[in-house]
Amino acid sequence: MREYAFELALCAHREPQVDGLLARQLGASCHGTRVLDVVELAPGPRFDDRVSLCPGTIPAPVLESDVGPGTARDPREALDAHPDRLDDVVEAAVTAGYLERERRDGRDLVRATGRYPEGWAGRLRGIENKPDLGRPGDLERQLRTDVSLGLVDEVVLATASHVTGAHLNRIPDAVGVWRFDPETGGREVVREPTPLDADGPGVEPLAEHSGRTDIAVVTAAEKRRARRRLAERAFGKGWRPAAEVWPDCARVTVDERAGVGPLPDCPWKGRLVDPASECGPACGGHERGTAPAVDPEAARAAATAWDPDAGDRRRQTGLDSFGDTG
Ligand code: SF4
Repeated sequence: MREYAFELALCAHREPQVDGLLARQLGASCHGTRVLDVVELAPGPRFDDRVSLCPGTIPAPVLESDVGPGTARDPREALDAHPDRLDDVVEAAVTAGYLERERRDGRDLVRATGRYPEGWAGRLRGIENKPDLGRPGDLERQLRTDVSLGLVDEVVLATASHVTGAHLNRIPDAVGVWRFDPETGGREVVREPTPLDADGPGVEPLAEHSGRTDIAVVTAAEKRRARRRLAERAFGKGWRPAAEVWPDCARVTVDERAGVGPLPDCPWKGRLVDPASECGPACGGHERGTAPAVDPEAARAAATAWDPDAGDRRRQTGLDSFGDTG
């Protein structure tokens, strides 16, 4: 079982069980490069307000600025972003549905489409997938980093392997362990996770040399900002492979996984595949064809509270009333 197929199967199993959202492959560090396989995001008190604000990820420089729904601002003055990145940041926030542009006195200004609901994100659970504990790779170091930094509220290791006492001894005590069967969807809790101090400061290991480890001390305020970035990425991204990456291969089939899909299944490989890294003309089984028409966003909307059209109706209503009075 490839890690990718294991990860999709786990997400498909978890999504109907959690009251919130799941996402895959998200950066989860303050100064390093740690990427969490899966993040489960529980709703906070204002989750519904975030859902109805806009569907996409709001870039951090926009959230950390004072651009709001009131006065339109010049992004060059309001955003703390490198000039080379400024246009991309604004474009990403417009595409996300959070900023709208307006032109006044020859200047390009931006304004938020609504008030940002701080506190919308609840607890964050990070899941590290390691289907085969016989090939642990960097697992110990990754989990030590997660526990030491404490960016998420809890960390779980998910594996298909039989978990022995020796395995448990090698990973930090705070890490929970699930044994998951991707074929049947059966999940056994081998060990519950211990909550991490996500509100306090943390220590982030950055690089290991013989006899010493470079670290960064991370303040509680830095972690708060990083948690919001992580929650925003999880909110906008989700876990299903995007429609654009599905291969133009005649062999790929659509696995609906009991209504949770669409997931790319390959009968030639006999499993779910990662289109981005496994598919294309270089694959031995590739047969030229047309990528199936799939709509992962519609599937996510049907399965969760996330709304891909959020904000459209509000903006449309605003335009209509402008027309009425105009
Ligand atoms: S490109 Fe290869 S891995 Fe991808 S669907 Fe086609 S045969 Fe399967």
